[in-house]
Amino acid sequence: MSKLTLVLTLTLLGGAAAYVQDKVTYDDTPLLPGSKFRVHGDRPWPQVITPGEGAAPPSDATVLFDGSDVSAWRGGPWKVEDGYMEVNGKGSITTKEEFGDMQLHLEFACATPATGSSQGRGNSGVFLMGEYEVQILDCYENKTYPDGQTAALYGQSPPMVNACRPPGEWQSYDILFQTPVFEGEKLVRHASITVLHNGVAVHHAKKFIGSTQHKRVATYSAHGPTGPIQLQEHGNPIRFRNIWVRPLAGYDRE
Ligand code: MG
Repeated sequence: MSKLTLVLTLTLLGGAAAYVQDKVTYDDTPLLPGSKFRVHGDRPWPQVITPGEGAAPPSDATVLFDGSDVSAWRGGPWKVEDGYMEVNGKGSITTKEEFGDMQLHLEFACATPATGSSQGRGNSGVFLMGEYEVQILDCYENKTYPDGQTAALYGQSPPMVNACRPPGEWQSYDILFQTPVFEGEKLVRHASITVLHNGVAVHHAKKFIGSTQHKRVATYSAHGPTGPIQLQEHGNPIRFRNIWVRPLAGYDRE
């Protein structure tokens, strides 16, 4: 009989309900390696949140765009109508708030009918910390250099697959991003990223080799532990909706 079963059995017999709630953890188990916590031991419980229906933001998310309110952003302003905002020739937009390790969800749609080719079709991008770009492009039946196609870490790493939907259809990125770490000017940990494009894994724990560059090898320049999220204006009328972020405040980097 396990300890927990014994406690439950005794409780059923004795009716000490409060005691059961207090004793869901163990205090006679070994310490986890390198930890102050025991196996099954007492430690902070994860916060209870409410997940969103579908891709709606969970209860602890910071909503960056809900379909109408653009107050989280500076720059632009982009056109807002019918629950989306659209690049309109007024430049890139950047969050006022800065983020470090994060989960980011955003949805975008490229213009239909598609016009232009290669990098000229549906070009935008999301820059984590204002430095590290996940490319947005219309690569549905549109070829470009692989490390510049949709969901590429621009100029560095193509996505594992091309999961594009046709232009005009809403698409999603779900991103887990881990910031680089610097000691003075020295890089001691690369930025890394996991990306789902339309629910499909296209990067997993992939390292950035540096800040995004065009036609040059990316390199790192030391910066702070947080930075803004930027959506790129690249001359094409891309639409965005449902953008939210969850700082990974309790993330144990190991
Ligand atoms: Mg771009």
